[in-house]
Parts: sequence; structure tokens; C-alpha cells
Amino acid sequence: MKTMTCNQLGGACDKIFHANTFEEIAEMSKKHGSEKLQMGDKKHLKAMNKMMELMKSPEAMTKWFENKNKEFNSLPED
Ligand SMILES: [Zn+2]
Repeated sequence: MKTMTCNQLGGACDKIFHANTFEEIAEMSKKHGSEKLQMGDKKHLKAMNKMMELMKSPEAMTKWFENKNKEFNSLPED
């Protein structure tokens, strides 16, 4: 298992996620993000808007995803 925080995944807090694959951890942070949004959390709303901005460019989004994937893979196993 590897560990990444909400912040590292383009979020807005220090919540820690554990997963075996990047896809898995990205899914967890996405779920957490939408839960926070439903609570009306402004910090996560801001982070989400940033991501939406990034998603307008498929190239930038792919690059972001690749970079995070690399970051995840370079992490030590727990
Ligand atoms: Zn968070």
C-alpha cells in the first residue's frame, strides 16, 4: 500500500488515503472531494474549481495525471 494526502491529489486538506494503485487512490480522493463539496466546504470547492479549469485542456489534464501517477509510483510502500 502507498499513501498520499488530499493535498497531494489536488485537494485541500491533509486527509490521508491508502491504496495499491494510482487509479484506486484517485478514485478515493474524488469520492472524498465530492463528499466535502456536499458539505459546502469552501477549500475543496476552490480546489475543485482549479481542477475543472485544468480539465478544459485535455493535454494539461493528461500531464497532471501522468505526473501524479509517477509521484505515486515513486512513493515507498507502507
Ligand atoms: Zn480533502
